[in-house]
Amino acid sequence: RANEQHKLIAIALPEDESAFASRLTFMCGLQKAIREDELELHYQPKIRARSGKTAALEALVRWNHPTEGMIPPDRFIGLAEETGDITKLTEWVIRRAIADQGRLLKLGHKLPIDVNISGVMIADPNFAWDTLMLFTAVQGDIGFEITETAMIADPARALENLRTIADAGIKLAIDDYGSGFSSLAYLQQLPVSELKIDKIFISRLASGQRDPLLVRSTIELAHALEMEVTAEGVDSPEALALLQVMGCDMLQGFHLSRPLPFDRLVTYLESESAN
Ligand code: C2E
Ligand code: CA
Ligand code: CA
Ligand code: CA
Repeated sequence: RANEQHKLIAIALPEDESAFASRLTFMCGLQKAIREDELELHYQPKIRARSGKTAALEALVRWNHPTEGMIPPDRFIGLAEETGDITKLTEWVIRRAIADQGRLLKLGHKLPIDVNISGVMIADPNFAWDTLMLFTAVQGDIGFEITETAMIADPARALENLRTIADAGIKLAIDDYGSGFSSLAYLQQLPVSELKIDKIFISRLASGQRDPLLVRSTIELAHALEMEVTAEGVDSPEALALLQVMGCDMLQGFHLSRPLPFDRLVTYLESESAN
Protein backbone atom coordinates (compact mmCIF):
# COMPACT_ATOMS: atom_id res chain seq x y z
CA ARG A 1 0.00 0.00 0.00
CA ALA A 2 2.70 2.42 1.01
CA ASN A 3 4.60 1.29 -2.01
CA GLU A 4 1.63 2.03 -4.25
CA GLN A 5 1.29 5.52 -2.87
CA HIS A 6 4.95 6.00 -3.42
CA LYS A 7 4.53 5.05 -7.07
CA LEU A 8 1.60 7.39 -7.47
CA ILE A 9 3.58 10.28 -6.13
CA ALA A 10 6.47 9.40 -8.36
CA ILE A 11 4.18 9.41 -11.40
CA ALA A 12 2.74 12.77 -10.45
CA LEU A 13 6.18 14.31 -10.33
CA PRO A 14 7.86 15.35 -13.54
CA GLU A 15 11.32 15.21 -11.99
CA ASP A 16 13.16 12.51 -10.14
CA GLU A 17 12.64 12.45 -6.40
CA SER A 18 16.00 13.71 -5.31
CA ALA A 19 15.71 16.75 -7.56
CA PHE A 20 12.23 17.35 -6.18
CA ALA A 21 13.45 17.01 -2.60
CA SER A 22 16.26 19.45 -3.17
CA ARG A 23 13.86 21.89 -4.81
CA LEU A 24 11.62 21.66 -1.76
CA THR A 25 14.48 22.34 0.63
CA PHE A 26 15.55 25.20 -1.58
CA MET A 27 12.07 26.72 -1.58
CA CYS A 28 11.63 26.49 2.20
CA GLY A 29 15.17 27.80 2.49
CA LEU A 30 14.36 30.88 0.48
CA GLN A 31 11.55 31.92 2.81
CA LYS A 32 13.93 31.43 5.72
CA ALA A 33 16.61 33.36 3.85
CA ILE A 34 14.30 36.35 3.52
CA ARG A 35 13.33 36.16 7.22
CA GLU A 36 16.85 35.64 8.51
CA ASP A 37 18.67 38.09 6.28
CA GLU A 38 20.68 35.61 4.21
CA LEU A 39 20.07 37.75 1.15
CA GLU A 40 22.52 40.44 0.10
CA LEU A 41 22.44 43.28 -2.38
CA HIS A 42 25.37 44.08 -4.62
CA TYR A 43 25.39 47.31 -6.57
CA GLN A 44 26.59 47.87 -10.11
CA PRO A 45 27.27 51.51 -11.08
CA LYS A 46 25.55 53.03 -14.11
CA ILE A 47 28.10 55.45 -15.53
CA ARG A 48 27.08 58.66 -17.31
CA ALA A 49 28.91 58.51 -20.67
CA ARG A 50 29.65 62.24 -20.81
CA SER A 51 31.12 62.70 -17.36
CA GLY A 52 32.45 59.21 -16.73
CA LYS A 53 30.91 59.37 -13.24
CA THR A 54 28.39 57.14 -11.51
CA ALA A 55 24.88 58.46 -12.10
CA ALA A 56 22.87 55.63 -10.55
CA LEU A 57 23.21 52.12 -9.11
CA GLU A 58 21.51 48.87 -9.99
CA ALA A 59 20.72 46.58 -7.06
CA LEU A 60 21.36 42.88 -7.77
CA VAL A 61 20.37 40.28 -5.21
CA ARG A 62 22.50 37.34 -4.06
CA TRP A 63 21.74 34.57 -1.61
CA ASN A 64 24.50 34.05 0.89
CA HIS A 65 23.56 30.45 1.70
CA PRO A 66 24.96 28.97 4.97
CA THR A 67 26.20 25.79 3.25
CA GLU A 68 26.05 26.45 -0.51
CA GLY A 69 27.90 29.76 -0.44
CA MET A 70 26.94 32.72 -2.65
CA ILE A 71 24.07 31.73 -4.98
CA PRO A 72 23.47 33.92 -8.06
CA PRO A 73 19.94 35.25 -8.71
CA ASP A 74 19.41 33.20 -11.88
CA ARG A 75 19.29 30.11 -9.63
CA PHE A 76 16.45 31.29 -7.36
CA ILE A 77 14.45 34.13 -8.96
CA GLY A 78 12.61 31.73 -11.29
CA LEU A 79 11.68 29.51 -8.34
CA ALA A 80 10.56 32.47 -6.28
CA GLU A 81 8.31 33.47 -9.18
CA GLU A 82 6.77 29.99 -9.26
CA THR A 83 6.12 29.84 -5.52
CA GLY A 84 4.95 33.43 -5.15
CA ASP A 85 7.88 34.24 -2.83
CA ILE A 86 8.95 36.85 -5.38
CA THR A 87 6.69 39.46 -3.76
CA LYS A 88 8.33 39.12 -0.35
CA LEU A 89 11.76 39.01 -1.95
CA THR A 90 11.11 42.19 -3.93
CA GLU A 91 9.81 44.01 -0.86
CA TRP A 92 12.98 42.97 0.95
CA VAL A 93 15.12 44.24 -1.95
CA ILE A 94 13.34 47.62 -2.02
CA ARG A 95 13.64 48.10 1.74
CA ARG A 96 17.32 47.17 1.77
CA ALA A 97 18.05 49.42 -1.22
CA ILE A 98 16.34 52.34 0.55
CA ALA A 99 18.35 51.66 3.73
CA ASP A 100 21.64 51.47 1.79
CA GLN A 101 20.72 54.65 -0.08
CA GLY A 102 20.39 56.39 3.28
CA ARG A 103 23.81 55.09 4.39
CA LEU A 104 25.35 56.34 1.12
CA LEU A 105 23.76 59.75 1.55
CA LYS A 106 25.33 60.08 5.01
CA LEU A 107 28.70 59.43 3.32
CA GLY A 108 28.02 62.20 0.79
CA HIS A 109 26.87 60.06 -2.14
CA LYS A 110 23.43 60.99 -3.44
CA LEU A 111 22.48 58.33 -5.97
CA PRO A 112 19.25 56.88 -7.34
CA ILE A 113 19.03 53.09 -7.04
CA ASP A 114 17.27 50.90 -9.59
CA VAL A 115 15.80 47.54 -8.61
CA ASN A 116 14.70 44.68 -10.87
CA ILE A 117 10.99 43.95 -10.78
CA SER A 118 9.77 40.56 -11.97
CA GLY A 119 7.29 40.46 -14.84
CA VAL A 120 5.21 38.08 -12.73
CA MET A 121 4.52 40.93 -10.32
CA ILE A 122 3.76 43.41 -13.10
CA ALA A 123 1.21 40.95 -14.50
CA ASP A 124 -0.35 40.16 -11.09
CA PRO A 125 -3.97 41.43 -10.92
CA ASN A 126 -4.05 41.21 -7.12
CA PHE A 127 -0.88 42.91 -6.11
CA ALA A 128 -1.50 46.16 -4.27
CA TRP A 129 1.04 48.38 -6.00
CA ASP A 130 -0.37 51.54 -4.41
CA THR A 131 0.81 50.65 -0.91
CA LEU A 132 4.30 49.57 -1.87
CA MET A 133 4.67 52.53 -4.23
CA LEU A 134 3.70 55.05 -1.63
CA PHE A 135 6.33 53.65 0.72
CA THR A 136 8.99 53.45 -2.01
CA ALA A 137 8.42 56.94 -3.38
CA VAL A 138 8.30 58.63 0.01
CA GLN A 139 11.27 56.85 1.58
CA GLY A 140 13.75 56.69 -1.27
CA ASP A 141 14.85 57.58 -4.78
CA ILE A 142 14.18 54.20 -6.36
CA GLY A 143 13.65 53.29 -10.02
CA PHE A 144 12.31 50.03 -11.44
CA GLU A 145 13.75 47.89 -14.23
CA ILE A 146 11.24 45.64 -15.96
CA THR A 147 11.65 43.33 -18.95
CA GLU A 148 9.46 43.68 -22.00
CA THR A 149 8.24 40.09 -21.52
CA ALA A 150 6.26 41.38 -18.53
CA MET A 151 3.74 42.86 -20.98
CA ILE A 152 2.99 39.76 -23.03
CA ALA A 153 0.52 37.79 -20.90
CA ASP A 154 -1.89 40.62 -20.11
CA PRO A 155 -0.83 43.92 -21.71
CA ALA A 156 -3.82 45.87 -20.36
CA ARG A 157 -3.20 44.75 -16.78
CA ALA A 158 0.52 45.39 -17.10
CA LEU A 159 -0.11 48.88 -18.42
CA GLU A 160 -2.46 49.65 -15.53
CA ASN A 161 0.13 48.51 -12.98
CA LEU A 162 2.88 50.47 -14.73
CA ARG A 163 0.73 53.60 -14.63
CA THR A 164 0.15 53.20 -10.88
CA ILE A 165 3.91 52.87 -10.43
CA ALA A 166 4.79 55.81 -12.68
CA ASP A 167 2.08 58.01 -11.12
CA ALA A 168 3.76 57.50 -7.75
CA GLY A 169 6.87 59.10 -9.27
CA ILE A 170 8.90 55.94 -9.77
CA LYS A 171 11.15 55.99 -12.85
CA LEU A 172 10.69 53.00 -15.14
CA ALA A 173 13.30 51.39 -17.37
CA ILE A 174 12.87 48.62 -19.95
CA ASP A 175 15.48 45.94 -19.20
CA ASP A 176 17.05 43.52 -21.71
CA TYR A 177 15.70 45.49 -24.66
CA GLY A 178 16.05 43.59 -27.92
CA SER A 179 15.82 40.11 -26.42
CA GLY A 180 12.02 40.04 -26.66
CA PHE A 181 9.67 40.89 -29.45
CA SER A 182 8.33 44.32 -28.64
CA SER A 183 8.93 47.29 -30.87
CA LEU A 184 9.93 50.72 -29.66
CA ALA A 185 6.67 52.03 -31.10
CA TYR A 186 4.79 49.83 -28.63
CA LEU A 187 7.07 50.68 -25.71
CA GLN A 188 6.46 54.35 -26.40
CA GLN A 189 2.92 53.94 -25.05
CA LEU A 190 4.32 52.87 -21.69
CA PRO A 191 5.35 55.38 -19.03
CA VAL A 192 9.01 54.48 -19.49
CA SER A 193 11.94 56.91 -19.48
CA GLU A 194 14.95 54.62 -19.91
CA LEU A 195 15.85 51.85 -22.31
CA LYS A 196 18.53 49.30 -21.43
CA ILE A 197 19.92 47.52 -24.48
CA ASP A 198 20.46 43.83 -23.75
CA LYS A 199 24.05 42.84 -23.11
CA ILE A 200 23.95 40.29 -25.96
CA PHE A 201 24.04 43.16 -28.46
CA ILE A 202 26.68 45.09 -26.55
CA SER A 203 29.16 42.27 -26.03
CA ARG A 204 29.07 41.56 -29.79
CA LEU A 205 29.67 45.23 -30.59
CA ALA A 206 33.44 45.16 -30.62
CA SER A 207 33.69 42.10 -32.89
CA GLY A 208 30.55 41.96 -35.05
CA GLN A 209 29.73 43.78 -38.28
CA ARG A 210 25.97 44.19 -38.30
CA ASP A 211 25.34 44.92 -34.65
CA PRO A 212 26.87 48.42 -34.52
CA LEU A 213 24.14 49.59 -36.88
CA LEU A 214 21.45 47.92 -34.80
CA VAL A 215 22.67 49.51 -31.59
CA ARG A 216 23.14 52.93 -33.16
CA SER A 217 19.67 53.03 -34.69
CA THR A 218 18.13 51.88 -31.40
CA ILE A 219 19.88 54.73 -29.59
CA GLU A 220 18.68 57.26 -32.16
CA LEU A 221 15.10 56.05 -32.14
CA ALA A 222 14.98 55.95 -28.33
CA HIS A 223 16.28 59.51 -28.22
CA ALA A 224 13.61 60.58 -30.71
CA LEU A 225 11.08 59.09 -28.26
CA GLU A 226 12.73 61.04 -25.43
CA MET A 227 14.09 58.03 -23.62
CA GLU A 228 17.55 57.74 -22.09
CA VAL A 229 19.60 54.80 -23.27
CA THR A 230 21.77 52.56 -21.11
CA ALA A 231 24.08 49.91 -22.54
CA GLU A 232 24.61 46.93 -20.24
CA GLY A 233 27.38 44.37 -20.58
CA VAL A 234 30.06 46.92 -21.53
CA ASP A 235 32.97 44.56 -20.96
CA SER A 236 35.73 45.91 -23.24
CA PRO A 237 37.42 49.26 -23.97
CA GLU A 238 36.37 48.83 -27.63
CA ALA A 239 32.68 48.60 -26.75
CA LEU A 240 33.04 51.58 -24.42
CA ALA A 241 34.61 53.75 -27.16
CA LEU A 242 31.99 52.77 -29.75
CA LEU A 243 29.07 53.49 -27.42
CA GLN A 244 30.47 56.90 -26.53
CA VAL A 245 30.66 57.82 -30.21
CA MET A 246 27.09 56.56 -30.72
CA GLY A 247 25.79 58.92 -28.05
CA CYS A 248 24.66 56.29 -25.57
CA ASP A 249 23.71 58.07 -22.30
CA MET A 250 24.72 55.55 -19.66
CA LEU A 251 27.11 52.64 -19.54
CA GLN A 252 27.22 49.60 -17.33
CA GLY A 253 29.44 46.55 -17.43
CA PHE A 254 32.40 44.61 -16.08
CA HIS A 255 34.87 46.87 -17.90
CA LEU A 256 33.59 49.81 -15.82
CA SER A 257 32.68 48.01 -12.62
CA ARG A 258 31.36 44.65 -11.51
CA PRO A 259 28.45 44.56 -9.09
CA LEU A 260 29.99 45.40 -5.69
CA PRO A 261 29.05 44.60 -2.09
CA PHE A 262 28.26 47.75 -0.08
CA ASP A 263 31.72 48.31 1.45
CA ARG A 264 33.51 47.96 -1.86
CA LEU A 265 30.96 50.21 -3.51
CA VAL A 266 31.83 52.93 -1.00
CA THR A 267 35.55 52.52 -1.78
CA TYR A 268 34.74 52.75 -5.50
CA LEU A 269 32.70 55.92 -5.07
CA GLU A 270 35.37 57.54 -2.87
CA SER A 271 38.11 56.93 -5.46
CA GLU A 272 35.81 58.26 -8.18
CA SER A 273 35.19 61.55 -6.40
CA ALA A 274 38.92 61.88 -5.63
CA ASN A 275 39.68 61.91 -9.38
P1 C2E B 1 19.91 41.79 -15.35
O1 C2E B 1 18.94 42.68 -14.66
O2 C2E B 1 19.96 41.86 -16.85
O3 C2E B 1 21.32 42.15 -14.70
C1 C2E B 1 22.54 42.16 -15.38
C2 C2E B 1 23.35 40.91 -15.10
O4 C2E B 1 24.50 40.95 -15.98
C3 C2E B 1 23.91 40.80 -13.70
O5 C2E B 1 24.00 39.43 -13.36
C4 C2E B 1 25.31 41.40 -13.85
O6 C2E B 1 26.24 40.95 -12.91
C5 C2E B 1 25.69 40.91 -15.23
N1 C2E B 1 26.66 41.79 -15.88
C6 C2E B 1 26.94 43.10 -15.60
N2 C2E B 1 27.89 43.59 -16.40
C7 C2E B 1 28.26 42.57 -17.22
C8 C2E B 1 29.21 42.44 -18.29
O7 C2E B 1 29.95 43.37 -18.64
N3 C2E B 1 29.31 41.23 -18.91
C9 C2E B 1 28.52 40.19 -18.55
N4 C2E B 1 28.66 39.02 -19.20
N5 C2E B 1 27.59 40.26 -17.56
C10 C2E B 1 27.46 41.45 -16.90
P2 C2E B 1 23.37 38.89 -12.01
O8 C2E B 1 23.66 39.81 -10.88
O9 C2E B 1 23.79 37.47 -11.88
O10 C2E B 1 21.81 38.96 -12.28
C11 C2E B 1 21.19 38.13 -13.23
C12 C2E B 1 19.73 38.46 -13.38
O11 C2E B 1 18.99 38.15 -12.18
C13 C2E B 1 19.43 39.95 -13.60
O12 C2E B 1 19.66 40.26 -14.96
C14 C2E B 1 17.98 40.04 -13.19
O13 C2E B 1 17.14 39.63 -14.25
C15 C2E B 1 17.88 39.00 -12.07
N6 C2E B 1 17.89 39.70 -10.77
C16 C2E B 1 18.94 40.10 -10.03
N7 C2E B 1 18.53 40.69 -8.89
C17 C2E B 1 17.17 40.68 -8.91
C18 C2E B 1 16.14 41.15 -8.01
O14 C2E B 1 16.38 41.75 -6.96
N8 C2E B 1 14.83 40.92 -8.38
C19 C2E B 1 14.51 40.29 -9.56
N9 C2E B 1 13.21 40.12 -9.85
N10 C2E B 1 15.46 39.85 -10.42
C20 C2E B 1 16.77 40.04 -10.10
CA1 CA C 1 18.39 44.80 -14.68
CA1 CA D 1 19.53 43.46 -18.26
CA1 CA E 1 18.47 39.67 -17.84
